[in-house]
Amino acid sequence: MLSSLRGMWLNYVHMKKLQILMLLTTALLFACQKPASYSSFDEYPVYEGDDLELTFTPEKSKFRVWAPTASEVKLLLYNDGYEGAAYEMHDMKRSEGGTWKLVIKENLEGKFYTFQAKVGEKWLAETPGMWVKATGVNGKRAAIIDFAKTNPEGWENDVRPPLKNFTDMVIYEVHMRDFSVSPNSGMKNKGKFLAFTEHGTKNTAGEATGIDHLVDLGVTHVHLLPSYDYASIDETKLNENKYNWGYDPQNYNVPEGGYSTNPYDPATRVREFKQMVQSLHKSGIRVIMDVVYNHTFVGGESHLNQLVPDYFYRFRQDSTWSNASGCGNETASERAMMRKFIIESVVYWATEYKVDGFRFDLMGIHDIETMNAIRAALDKVDPTIYVYGEGWTADSSPLPEEKRAVKKNAKLLNNIGVFSDDLRDALKGSWMNKEIPGFASGVDSLEESVKFGITAAAFHPQVDYTKPIYSKEPYTNNPTQIINYVSCHDDMCLVDKLNLSKPAGTTPEELVRFNKLAQSVVFTSMGVPFMYAGEEVYRNKKGVNNTYQSPDSINQIDWDNKTTYRHVYDYYKGLIAMRKAHPAFRIPTQEMMEKYLKFNDLKTPNVVAFTLGENANGDEWKNILVIHNGNRKAVQVEIPTDKWTIVAHDAVINLNGIKAHDGGLLQLAPSSMTVLYTK
Ligand code: CA
Repeated sequence: MLSSLRGMWLNYVHMKKLQILMLLTTALLFACQKPASYSSFDEYPVYEGDDLELTFTPEKSKFRVWAPTASEVKLLLYNDGYEGAAYEMHDMKRSEGGTWKLVIKENLEGKFYTFQAKVGEKWLAETPGMWVKATGVNGKRAAIIDFAKTNPEGWENDVRPPLKNFTDMVIYEVHMRDFSVSPNSGMKNKGKFLAFTEHGTKNTAGEATGIDHLVDLGVTHVHLLPSYDYASIDETKLNENKYNWGYDPQNYNVPEGGYSTNPYDPATRVREFKQMVQSLHKSGIRVIMDVVYNHTFVGGESHLNQLVPDYFYRFRQDSTWSNASGCGNETASERAMMRKFIIESVVYWATEYKVDGFRFDLMGIHDIETMNAIRAALDKVDPTIYVYGEGWTADSSPLPEEKRAVKKNAKLLNNIGVFSDDLRDALKGSWMNKEIPGFASGVDSLEESVKFGITAAAFHPQVDYTKPIYSKEPYTNNPTQIINYVSCHDDMCLVDKLNLSKPAGTTPEELVRFNKLAQSVVFTSMGVPFMYAGEEVYRNKKGVNNTYQSPDSINQIDWDNKTTYRHVYDYYKGLIAMRKAHPAFRIPTQEMMEKYLKFNDLKTPNVVAFTLGENANGDEWKNILVIHNGNRKAVQVEIPTDKWTIVAHDAVINLNGIKAHDGGLLQLAPSSMTVLYTK
C-alpha cells in the first residue's frame, strides 16, 4: 500500500510537472508568436550571420529572413518565375536576431520563391526579399540556382588588370544601350552585357567600335550605368526597345534582366554579366558599377518594405517620407541592418562578379561611418577596388550634414573619391543655367576655379581659396580622392552644353576647340580623370538636357562620328596616352603635389599655367609646362629659356614632339592647351 501510495504521489508530482511544463511552453510559444513592438528602430534586433535569405545546396535549401516585427512569415514556392500559383506554402519559425527560419530538405534548384510577412493584422505583399541574388523575369520572384554553374569557362583564372594608384585610372562612363544599340555599332548583342565580349566590330567606314575601340582609346575602367535589376523597363516587352538610365533600383544583388539575352532564365543574366567582366578584364579594362543604395524605385511597396515596414527608410519629424534622393524616398544607411546590407551587397559584387569599383549615386545621402565600413570591407577583398560617389544629395535629409558623405566631409572619408563639380562647372559653365559658358568658352575670372580643379581640391599654397566658384577651401586629403570631369550622363553632354552656351559669333570649329580644351584640363589635372562615353567621338544628344528615358535615337553613340570627327578622337586618345605615359600627371599624394606642381604666372588673363618639375613622380621628362589658354584669341606668353619640346599645341597632340622651343616669347593658339617639356 505504501508503495502504491508512493506511486500515486509520484504520478501526481509527475502530472503536475507536465502541467507546469505545458503551461511554460504555451507561455513561451505565445511570447514567441506575439508581434514584437519596439519604441525605436535602434531597438530592433540585429542579425549578425551571413546566411540571410537563401543558402542553397543540392541536398537542402535553408531560408532565413529578417522580419523582427512580423507575427507570422510564410515561404511560398513556385515552379515559374512570373506566372502561376504557389505549389507549396510553408510557415517559417521565429529564430535568432529577428529572423525567421525554414529548411527544406529537397533539391529546389530551378524553383522560385517569395516571402510573405504578417505585420500587425495585415499580410504584406509577397517579396523575393532583399538579399535575393537571382530572380525570374521582372524580378518579382526569387530564383534558386546553383551559382557554381553560372561561371563562364576560365572564370576561375580571371584576374583584375593591374592597378597601382587610383590616380592611374581613366574612367569611361557608359550606359549599356548607348554603347551598342546604334545600327552602325557593328555589334550583334545590342543593348546587352554580351556586347562587351564582341571583338572586331566596326562602324560603316570600317573603324573599330566596341571593346576594341575602348582598348585603342586607352581607358582603364569602364563605369557601367546601373546594371543591377531596376524596375522601369518591362523585361517581358524588350522588343519595345524602351530606354532608361536605371536609377530605379528593385533588386540590388541581381543583374538587370533587360541587358541579358533571356531575362526569363535566372542564370542567363548572371552568366552574361560575368562574361562581360571577364572580357573586359582580358582586354586590360576594369569594371565599375554605378550603385544606387540611396533610394528604391518605390518606397512603401518596395521589396525591402514588405518584410520590415519603414525600417530601411528615413522619415521626417511629421512621419512623412523624407526625400533626399528626389525620387520619393531615401534609405537609412545608418541603421544597422541597412548598413549591413549595403556592405554585404558591395562585397558580393566584388567577389561573385569580380567588380573592381563602385560609384555611389547621391553618396551624400549615406552616412560617413557606413561609407568607411564599405571601404574597409572592400580592402579585405582587394584594396585596389575604387569607391567614389556624388558628394551631394538631391534634396534635404533628416540625417545631420556632419554625418553625411558629402564632398565637404571628404577628408573624413578614407580613400573614397568625390566628383568635382567645382572643376566641371568652371570649365563648361553652370549645370543649372544652360546658357552660361565657362573657362573653355572664353569666360573671364575663372582661373582660380580651374586651379582648384588642377590641384584636385587638395591644399596647394598657390590657390587663392577666396575665388573658386563653389568651394572656398580644399576638401580632399589627396588627389586620389577627386574625380575630375567635364561631363557625365547627367545634364547636357559636353557638345550640347558648349553649343547652347556659346558666346555670340562662335564658329563650329571653335566649339571643337572649346571641347578639346575642357578635356585637356581634366586629363592634365591631379586626381582621377573621368569621361562620358562617346565624348571622344564628339557625341551629341540633340540638345536634350535630361535623357534618362529618351529614346535610343537620342542616347545612342553614333559610331560613324568616329570617322567624321577623327581629329577629336585622336586628340582624346592623345590626352589619355600622355597621361598614361607620364606619371607626373598622376601624382597620388598632396605632399608630392605641393612639392612638384608649381603654378606659373604668365601675366595674361584667362591663362592658367603650371609646371610639373624635378622629374615629378619619377617622370622621364624633367620639367613639364602645361598652359591652358581660355582666351578665344591667340596670346603671347614668356617661356623660361631652356631646351623645350612642344607636344601639344593648337588643338593637336603629338608625343613625339611637334616642334622645339628655346624659351622666350611663345604664341598660344586660341582656346587650346600647350604642353612643353625639357629632358
Ligand atoms: Ca529589371
